[in-house]
Amino acid sequence: MLCETRILPIPAFTDNYIWVIQHGKYAAVVDPGDAEPVLRYLAHHQLQLCAILNTHHHADHTGGNLALLAQYPVPVYGPASESIPGLTHPLRENDSVNLPTLGLELKVIDLPGHTLGHIAYYGTDILLCGDTLFACGCGRLFEGTPAQMLASLNKLAVLPAQTAIYCAHEYTLANIAFALTLDADNPDLLQRARVEQTKRSKNLPTLPSNIGLELATNPFLRCRTQVLKSAAEHCLNQLLPDELAVFTAIRNLKNKF
Ligand code: ZN
Ligand code: FE
Repeated sequence: MLCETRILPIPAFTDNYIWVIQHGKYAAVVDPGDAEPVLRYLAHHQLQLCAILNTHHHADHTGGNLALLAQYPVPVYGPASESIPGLTHPLRENDSVNLPTLGLELKVIDLPGHTLGHIAYYGTDILLCGDTLFACGCGRLFEGTPAQMLASLNKLAVLPAQTAIYCAHEYTLANIAFALTLDADNPDLLQRARVEQTKRSKNLPTLPSNIGLELATNPFLRCRTQVLKSAAEHCLNQLLPDELAVFTAIRNLKNKF
């Protein structure tokens, strides 16, 4: 990524972020669930839209595609196996998205779990991962199995620690509150709770996060640790033999939290 390329959030609905990747007068948007705030942002900053990137088919991520296309006939990138409005560039694992006006080349990572076709876009030190990995949490399993989601999260866990994570929702404080029910003695998590509460009290986004911080604090990336295993076993009053059993248990507990 060129040093003048910036990634900024446009808030949408109650807790979505539409990420804008901008360089000079050009901008791409990621998961524009609503066109109206994007059009306002582009007009206000005198930016020209050059691409739409979608991570998965849900309406809060794709609902603005057609209205944006009506004003800017740009390429629309998204998962090949899902129904994406206006899709022009269907993508599969390891495909590249080349955005020369933004000085950016992104690789596609398949991340089944939240939906079956969900993808992320990965470039040098940046990850745009939709509803798969959240700050201190992970997406709900609407279409995939726990095993698929765990495998997807483990693909992200091995990315370089400094990789910035741009996910699509501001769920961080609720996720931290849940994480603390299982991992209350984790000093990194306790510190993160303070830092993120301060940001939210000033109405600042808690994102981007980064892989290193998630490895230290996100319960869904810590299913192999004895701490999380013991905590989940205690909650369920049952032995959990492996990482997948711990992940499944924690995901179920979060659904009811
Ligand atoms: Zn979604
Ligand atoms: Fe979403």
